[in-house]
Amino acid sequence: MNRVRISTSILFGTLFVGGTVMAANIVTAPQGGVARWAGMAASECGVYGKRYAAVDAVCYYPVDIRTKPGSHEIALWDQDGKQHLGSLRVEKAEFPKVEMELPESLDRFLNPSADETSRAVAERAEIEKILGGSNDAAKFSLPLGTPAASLPKSSDDFGSERLFNKEHKSLHSGRDYPVNVGSAVKAVADGTVVLAADHFYAGNSVYVDHGDGLVSMNFHLDSIAVKAGDEVKRGQTLGTVGSTGRATGPHLHIGLRWLGKRIDPALLFDNPTTLPSVSDSHAEAERKIEKAENAEPDEGDSTIDD
Ligand SMILES: [Zn+2]
Repeated sequence: MNRVRISTSILFGTLFVGGTVMAANIVTAPQGGVARWAGMAASECGVYGKRYAAVDAVCYYPVDIRTKPGSHEIALWDQDGKQHLGSLRVEKAEFPKVEMELPESLDRFLNPSADETSRAVAERAEIEKILGGSNDAAKFSLPLGTPAASLPKSSDDFGSERLFNKEHKSLHSGRDYPVNVGSAVKAVADGTVVLAADHFYAGNSVYVDHGDGLVSMNFHLDSIAVKAGDEVKRGQTLGTVGSTGRATGPHLHIGLRWLGKRIDPALLFDNPTTLPSVSDSHAEAERKIEKAENAEPDEGDSTIDD
């Protein structure tokens, strides 16, 4: 199949036209990370050819877990409409490889029937429509609220490449928190429920769109307390923790997409000042901004998000 390549810089040519690079505003972030540009009273931000609103006057640039290492042009528009350009350098992250044995009771998730396979494919198509998020104004601030009353440390499982029963590969693009069954699962921010359904792999799932391209997803719930179209408030109960779908035991799976990018949810539960930030150092002021070399911002893949 021939691949149509669209140059990122062409997209930026229309988006960022007329911009002047005043200094080398550079930030480095790992795959699955989020970079930040603060201190300029931002109104809007741009990356990957997309323009979107700042959050509390700060720009954030999400990096998909599979974004190729390289440089991407970023933009910040301040409150006077003045455009500032910078460069986001994506570094390769080392993700753990984990081998897991699934009990026989979960065999259907490794060897699904034809019906189950077509069910999963249909669900995936439905999910793909909402993962890009809406362009509505941001209904969230950072850090996000915690999705459970107490959030035990996850096992640094974001990004792990799982191998089930030595033959079935799966990329873990969220985090698993060992929360007790029956505990309330809470919305991490205000938003609109865009999907609430029982899915083959993810079990009972709730997807909330928080505006500005941010979507949170909660999987393997025991019960669901909301329905698609509901407006929810930060801290509102979405359901209870369970082990539905392909889960070896009760836990809360949280995934986050921002501008469609799969990012480590734990990063947004922390103080945002800990995120890598654009530096405007004089030492680098004369360095030329690198053009985005990667035609594709990331490799889309249809890996199941559980
Ligand atoms: Zn998970």
